[in-house]
Amino acid sequence: MQFTKEFRNPALAKAAINELHRITTRNWVIMEICGGQTHAIMQYGIDQLLPPQIELVHGPGCPVCVTPLKLIDKALAIAARPDVIFTSFGDMLRVPGSHDDLFSIRADGGDVRTVYSPLDAVKIAQENPDKEVVFFAIGFETTAPANVMSIIQAKNLELTNYSILVSQALVPPAMHAILGSENNRVQGFLAAGHVCAIMGYWEYPPIAEQYQIPITVTGFEPIDILNGILTNVRQLEAGDIGVINAYPRVVTEQGNLPAQKIIETVYRVCDRQWRGIGLIPQSGWCLREEFDAFNAEKKFDLGHIQTQESSVCIAGQILQGFKKPDQCPAFGKECTPRTPLGATMVSSEGACAAYYRFARNRK
Ligand code: SF4
Repeated sequence: MQFTKEFRNPALAKAAINELHRITTRNWVIMEICGGQTHAIMQYGIDQLLPPQIELVHGPGCPVCVTPLKLIDKALAIAARPDVIFTSFGDMLRVPGSHDDLFSIRADGGDVRTVYSPLDAVKIAQENPDKEVVFFAIGFETTAPANVMSIIQAKNLELTNYSILVSQALVPPAMHAILGSENNRVQGFLAAGHVCAIMGYWEYPPIAEQYQIPITVTGFEPIDILNGILTNVRQLEAGDIGVINAYPRVVTEQGNLPAQKIIETVYRVCDRQWRGIGLIPQSGWCLREEFDAFNAEKKFDLGHIQTQESSVCIAGQILQGFKKPDQCPAFGKECTPRTPLGATMVSSEGACAAYYRFARNRK
């Protein structure tokens, strides 16, 4: 990728770190909402370079991690059907349901395929008219345009054998839930740049105002993250509230208006369960009723699904910033990427996976 180097420039990183050490006078808890940022922070050891007064906690912005267990169990039930080709992004395959994961369904003969885009799943539906093709449409605002495009494409092609299992989550309601919790520790937020690239950041000033906090729109390269933290700490130290866009090369206040418009034609806002957290009102997107024919939950009669969550997994507390992955008694012992007890250990954006991969051998 062009221009990556300048966002990993050691001299710029050192300057930002020195400035953070110079200006920080008090203890601050800052949450990066996005699991992609969590991985970058752990990969580059950014948390170790900060002044000791700054604590980073990790938010719920990992779509795989917050997909409700019941929906994963539904995915497993659909994927096990002989008339179905089940398609998904790769990191969903090892996410544990109550008893199984998609890998074990595939090992038992289920036709489970990894795709890189929902449009690939539409193509599979075209090529397999005698099969039902289902795409597991998980994600935050970022993935919504591609997911709804697949529905529009399938409709235009008059496909009757394509549907999606929807798990679309929205960031601003999750921020409300975290900041409104009586146990909240978060004093400043790094907002996820890719979500804001689609939706803009116009939704955030009322949140900053309501909870009297600074919110910094932040990118994903090390220099982006350091500048996001520096901007946030400057605001915290000055007692400023409000939103600053520290990712202007990608994000505008209004976001991608054509993408927002197309999302609205296919999705409506609805209440949503978050794995480990619970119900957050108006925190998801569901398919509009006129697209019921493409709604896998309505297409397949799955009967009653009884879920069973791991009794030791504390992922819900990690996703709200109450605890860190290495405070989980199962971390690196019963729970590893090969033997995951929770989704945060397998997702490429999961906090437990980031700690396991980059920080488990730290002294
Ligand atoms: S280490 Fe495993 S069991 Fe512990 S919180 Fe993370 S995913 Fe859950």
